[in-house]
This record gives sequence, C-alpha cells and structure tokens, in this order.
Amino acid sequence: MADIFSKEKRHEIMSRIRNKDTKIEIKVRNWLFHHGIRYRKNYEKVTGKPDIVITKYKIAIFVHGCFWHAHENCKLCRFPKTQVEFWKEKLERNKERDIRIIQDLTKDGWNVFVLWECQVENNFDETMNSLLENILKIKAEHEKT
Ligand SMILES: [Zn+2]
Repeated sequence: MADIFSKEKRHEIMSRIRNKDTKIEIKVRNWLFHHGIRYRKNYEKVTGKPDIVITKYKIAIFVHGCFWHAHENCKLCRFPKTQVEFWKEKLERNKERDIRIIQDLTKDGWNVFVLWECQVENNFDETMNSLLENILKIKAEHEKT
C-alpha cells in the first residue's frame, strides 16, 4: 500500500513514537533497579525479546507503547487519520504477534507481565507497586522450593 508520507517523513514520525516507548521503558527499569530488582533488558534468548527479563524467576516484562501494540479502548492508540487501512493492518499484525509471544512464553513456564504506556504514564506508582508485589511473590515461591 502506498504511503502518502515521504520515506524521511515517515521515518521521523515513527522514530518519534519509538523514542517515547523507550523513555517509559527506562522509567520502569530505573524504578525496578532502585527497588532492588536485577534484570536483563531486551534479552534475545527469550521468545519475543521481552523488554525486561528476570531469568532466575522466569519473569518476562513487556512495556508496550499503546500505539504500536494497539491498546484497545485506549486514548493513546488513536489511528492516524490518513492511511487508515495501512495502519489498521500493521497494528493488527503487531497485536497478533504479541498474543502469540505471550502464549508461547506462558506455555514455556514464564510469568509474563505487560505494562501499558498509559498505565505507566497515568498511574505510575500503582502500576509499579503491583508489579513489584507480583515479582516478590514469584521470588518467594521460588525460594520455598
Ligand atoms: Zn493504553
């Protein structure tokens, strides 16, 4: 499908959105680090290359940008007004991919968490505290056995 933007313009738009994704990832990682959680980032050996991985406890955390991962009923996932079909198809594919990755990881015994950009931005403390709680629970169970 033809793109109305020039390659350069398209690249600029996409990188702006991607950078925003990265910023929330960093925010989440820093918080975890300050709370004593040690992790690997973008761990390639794990299906789907999760943004944050705690290998010891098989915890995989994805920080999803609402736009790229097509967060349903989310204000941050507004489709561009141009090239609607192009974007719809693209984001639909991303979404299907995410579902497949989470299924595969879960089947493999991973604990998968997805943090959405809108949660992180609007409810940071609550989101992070509940994530930490879950991590500590898994850790405690792991240490029992
Ligand atoms: Zn969202």
